[in-house]
Amino acid sequence: MMTTDLALDISFERVAKSRLSEVDFNHLPFGKIMTDHMFVADYDGQEWKDLRVAPFANMSISPANLTLHYGQTIFEGMKAYKTASGEVLVFRPEQNARRMNKSAVRMYMPEVPEEIFLGGLQELLSTDKAWVPTTQGSSLYIRPLLFATDEFVGLQPSQTYRFIIMCCPVGAYYNKPVKVKVETHFTRAVEGGIGYAKTAGNYAASMLPTQLAIEEGYDQLIWTDGKEHKYVEEAGSMNLMFVINNKLVTASTGDSILDGITRKSVLQMAKDMGMPIEERKLAISELIGAIKDGSLQEAFGAGTAATIAHISQIGYEGIRYDLPAIEGRTFSNKIYQEMENLKYGRIEDTRGWMMKI
Ligand SMILES: *Cc1c(COP(=O)(O)O)cnc(C)c1O
Repeated sequence: MMTTDLALDISFERVAKSRLSEVDFNHLPFGKIMTDHMFVADYDGQEWKDLRVAPFANMSISPANLTLHYGQTIFEGMKAYKTASGEVLVFRPEQNARRMNKSAVRMYMPEVPEEIFLGGLQELLSTDKAWVPTTQGSSLYIRPLLFATDEFVGLQPSQTYRFIIMCCPVGAYYNKPVKVKVETHFTRAVEGGIGYAKTAGNYAASMLPTQLAIEEGYDQLIWTDGKEHKYVEEAGSMNLMFVINNKLVTASTGDSILDGITRKSVLQMAKDMGMPIEERKLAISELIGAIKDGSLQEAFGAGTAATIAHISQIGYEGIRYDLPAIEGRTFSNKIYQEMENLKYGRIEDTRGWMMKI
């Protein structure tokens, strides 16, 4: 188990009255109910200061706030789980801290020292521990956010920034298989672009194309490369993985693909199981060919929200291809189960992935 033992100068302001008793934990809408507190730190152009755990509350922002105009903002997403004995475990948060700093460098923002990211997280989760749900399959979604705070309408990087960690209890993710459409017109990311950063612009750009696919009866898109629209990249908030001829195939990460922590973890577990892995370019034509000749055995998205989201149908050039039955998907079902057991502390954490609060 990983623990952090840090002497950070953090101030505390607790809520006068907790909102916990008002929450219906059996009907949790995703991302709408925030816990009592948040963690905040400010960057004044020189250093990080005013580290604090404060009541979750609105903040006032100038209409000239630079983030609102130019999108100099990045975020992260991870989850905490409560074990049967009441312990709170967070899945690989140091990976999120590192990835946030990769995003920060690309967006010309100050890095958040890992001790502030992880130390702030520890303090916030210790404070709001009672908010981590216990109902089967539920968890606490954690959203770190870094954004520009300069008030200036000219185009230049902000001098000042705010880092916030907020949390919301979320219900059991209903693992409904998803239908995905291969996008061959719109582009999410290009070489040299910002696709690998968890930054607002990537998601803003995906809204129209995704909505158009939803109108056609799909749930999500399979983004293809921006140059030729010939190769599989990823989905809007999940990396994509396929089992073809008993091998696990996934796109290599690079400029245009978000380096998912779930993806990385699935690859590690696959390796430990002795499953052959191919990180490489996967042409849409090869994928469709594998569906047609029966060599495609499994297809799924990997991301924090669902862990594993089975793909039941792929749409390409107006044709809908149905994929093999979910029950027969030995590899992804096994990975999903092992991941769940690990997160809820039901099996030993041999890789040191879970951070204890
Ligand atoms: C967050 C995200 C993922 C998944 O990353 P995880 O660390 O596994 O949650 C994949 N693709 C995009 C575009 C994302 O924003």
